[in-house]
Parts: sequence; structure tokens; C-alpha cells
Amino acid sequence: MSEHKIAASERATSRLRPPYASVLDLIGQTPVVELTKFDTGKCRLFIKLESQNPGGSIKDRIALSMIAAAEKQGKLRPGGTIVEATAGNTGLGLAQVGIPKGYRIVLVVPDKMSREKIQHLRALGAEVRMTRSDVGKGHPEYYQDMAEKLAAEVPGAFYANQFANPANPLAHETTTGPEIFAQLGGDVDAVVVGVGSGGTLTGLGRYFAKVSPKTEMVLADPVGSVLAPLIKTGKMEEAGSWTVEGIGEDFVPPNADLSLVKKAYSITDKQSMLAVRDLLSREGILAGSSSGTLLSAALRYCREQTVPKRVVTFVCDSGNKYLSKVFDDFWLAEQGLAEHEQHGDLRDLVM
Ligand code: PMP
Repeated sequence: MSEHKIAASERATSRLRPPYASVLDLIGQTPVVELTKFDTGKCRLFIKLESQNPGGSIKDRIALSMIAAAEKQGKLRPGGTIVEATAGNTGLGLAQVGIPKGYRIVLVVPDKMSREKIQHLRALGAEVRMTRSDVGKGHPEYYQDMAEKLAAEVPGAFYANQFANPANPLAHETTTGPEIFAQLGGDVDAVVVGVGSGGTLTGLGRYFAKVSPKTEMVLADPVGSVLAPLIKTGKMEEAGSWTVEGIGEDFVPPNADLSLVKKAYSITDKQSMLAVRDLLSREGILAGSSSGTLLSAALRYCREQTVPKRVVTFVCDSGNKYLSKVFDDFWLAEQGLAEHEQHGDLRDLVM
């Protein structure tokens, strides 16, 4: 073989590994890509593709750690039932990890979540109970209250409770954080995250406080969520509603340590949808709607900086889960989120 051909074949196989024992060994160690097709001001912006996990989201990591911790603590026994309240992705992770181990998976999911996620959950063998998206904590049909009640009714059931389970932030403190730090060569100025359960924020915030105190945690929050307003004003507003799935809250989850947040941005649904569609058309990265919120906030943060910085954000889950929503022009128009309906300078946020 010529030298050229040897070099080409080495390139073709350089990222390959010997066969894995299980698809679960593919959880974590996700790649990071630099975004070069957006105006990032003085900053370099990197995006970590959590969509590459086998369940297609960042939640595979916490499923693995919450199940391992429950087994270790004797809260989950062979043949047991795992109950969870989820926007879909934590349920997918729990089913992905738990079903091959012989656990029954029962999930309570608010009805705004995409059809693709529900079909994926059912195909994995999870039992899905749909409930209302338009009610808040304390209402009997609120998804978290329903899951907690259900877990109490099923003998020996384990309520995973990502909102308060310490194994959730721990997964990010011990895996996601060290991966980012290593992938960016130990030089990270800011990490832009969303909060659903708060696990990502708190785990990464704790990790970076230890290894890199200069690293700022930046919150990307949907308009309607109580979190960004609470950080900015100290006041708890009444929650509104938003279309983006998986992030934004109507309460502060025990796992969300908001004191770690240095800067918070409220992002509209329209800005999120536009950003995530631009991520696909410009960079070829297919991501879910919450990643649009993160990208939009990350771009704002980048453009506000007066000195060069290295900023990281996430593709929290794959856009395959939302083909019938954000990537469907008719759906977008129906929701009043289509691009041509924009006014003013919205587009500036992603240019
Ligand atoms: N993005 C998506 C798509 C999610 O489903 C979630 C969690 N529900 C998050 C982001 C937020 O992550 P965390 O729960 O760690 O705050």
C-alpha cells in the first residue's frame, strides 16, 4: 500500500474501538464539536453531543447512576418496579438500562411531550401513563405528584425521583464534568445549561467549582419558567407555559442549586425553535428543542463578552425525537412559531 493509502486507512479507523459488551457501555464519553457557522463574537463555542448516548439524550447517564445507587442501597430488588415522572428522556434512559435487567418501568409523562418519545418508550417495553401538562405542583394530575402516589401504591416500587435523587447530579459531577474538562484541554470559561431536574447544573457546577473556579455556570431558561426570573429578581413569579420540552420549571427542584448560576437568560419558544433549526441547516447537527434554548442563550452570552472565552453547551437530546414538531413546518406555523412570523430583531440572536 502507498503511504497515502495507509494514512487514509488509519484515518478511516482511528476512532474505532473493539466491540463493546453491551450498548450500555456506550453511555457517556460523548463527542464535542466546535460551532463555526454562527457569529460567536470573541468566543469559541463548543457543543457536547449528548444525543449520541444510546437512548438519544443526556438522561442515559443519570438512569445508569440512579439504578446503580438504588440497587446498592437495597431500594431496588430483582424483578422490582421503577416509577418516574419524566418529560420522556429520563424514562427512556431508565427503560434502556432497567428493562434488560428485568425491571418493570412505569412512567408518568405530561401530554405535551412528543409522540416520538412516547412511541420509543412503549417500544422499549415501558408502561406510559399520560397526564396533563397544564397543571402545576399540588394538583392531583401533576405528573410528579402522580408518579409519587403511584410508587407508594405499587409494593416494593422504587420512585427514581430525578428532581431530588442525589445520584442524578452525581452522574454529571463524576462523568459529564470530567469529560468536558478533558475535551477542552482544561480551559473552560463558561458552561451553558438548562434546568429540568437541575442535575446537569448542580453536578457540573460542583465539579467546576473544584477543578476550575473561573468557569461560570450560565442558565438557559424558557420564557414562562420561574427559574431565570427568580435568579434575576429574587422573586418567585407565577409559572407560564412553554413549548420547549425537558427544561424550565414551575418550582425549584431540590436538585437545582441555583446559587451556582452566574448569569441567566430567558429564551422564547420562537428563539429556541429558530436556533435549533439553524443548528441543523448550518452545522448539520440534529438536536431537540431544549438545545435551541441552550444555543440561543450561549450565543447571547458569547456576544456579550469583551475578551476571548471558551464556552460549552449541549445537544441535550436528538432532534429525531421531534421530527413531528420543531422540524415540521406545519406544526411550527400552527404553534405561531414559524420563522416568517417573526418581528423585529429575533433573527439577530442566532446570526
Ligand atoms: N434537555 C432535555 C431534552 C431534557 O429532557 C432534560 C431533562 N428533563 C434537560 C435538558 C435538563 O436536564 P436536567 O434534568 O439535568 O436539569
